[in-house]
Amino acid sequence: MKFGDFDLHIIRECTFRLDGGAMFGVVPKTMWGKLTDVDEANRVLLACNLLLVDTGSKKVLVETGMGDRWSDKERQRYDLHTLKAPDMVLSDLGLTPSDIDYVIISHLHFDHAGGATILRDGKLNATYPKARYIVQKGEWEFAFKANARAKASYRPDDFVPLQEAGQLELVDGDYEVCPGVHVKVTGGHTSHHQVVYLQSGAEQAVYFADILPTRSHLSPPWVMGYDHYPLASCDVKSQWLAACASQNYLVIFDHEPGVPWGRVKLKGEKFEFEALPENSLLPASLTTK
Ligand SMILES: [Zn+2]
Repeated sequence: MKFGDFDLHIIRECTFRLDGGAMFGVVPKTMWGKLTDVDEANRVLLACNLLLVDTGSKKVLVETGMGDRWSDKERQRYDLHTLKAPDMVLSDLGLTPSDIDYVIISHLHFDHAGGATILRDGKLNATYPKARYIVQKGEWEFAFKANARAKASYRPDDFVPLQEAGQLELVDGDYEVCPGVHVKVTGGHTSHHQVVYLQSGAEQAVYFADILPTRSHLSPPWVMGYDHYPLASCDVKSQWLAACASQNYLVIFDHEPGVPWGRVKLKGEKFEFEALPENSLLPASLTTK
């Protein structure tokens, strides 16, 4: 999709399921159950939606998804369906992993960093061999000292090989990765969680990562039980949504299983999401045919 001078593409890397209660925190099932389907194990359907930003001079991949280093037992636990193996994530766009200049990872949980590394000939390598991987320094440090509650979401094999390959770029706070592509620290989900803010021409966009994972999480107090700092998530979400609604940002949801991008409007006191048409998800070369 055209976005100012940029081209944006959504890549659905996988679908998976997580417990609905954990996904909606303190919100009762009688409320969230109306917005989303739930299976017999009380799990809701989610996706990993990666974003490719082509600025014209740089190609930036936002998030890497779950990847494919999962046992059958783990796949069952998460009802994980890999739609694109890590080395095939870009194939529909006619690109290879070597074409990527930057990979931005919002935080190091396995559903965001799982595809950052790939197993080749028994050795873990960076999936994107020429890319700089942009990670918050505080998130990196926390991943190695997470306590018992936080630890299960971090798998060192997803990120330690990036450092060994010399491809890791630790940034400390808000940072412009390349012209028009920014990371902004939000905290909330983890203490150094970052979102991606894009600006090109008259357009602005935000990729919310886990501060606002699906359209069902639009209401500011509907934050995930997984969040380390849920009150901070609620506040930062309110601030970003106000800007999105007043300035007509494109908003992008990492875990939305439907069309994951669109615009947010403030109707009375409530934010409402209007998804873009489904054909906005097709690569540009296909939509013009
Ligand atoms: Zn996530």
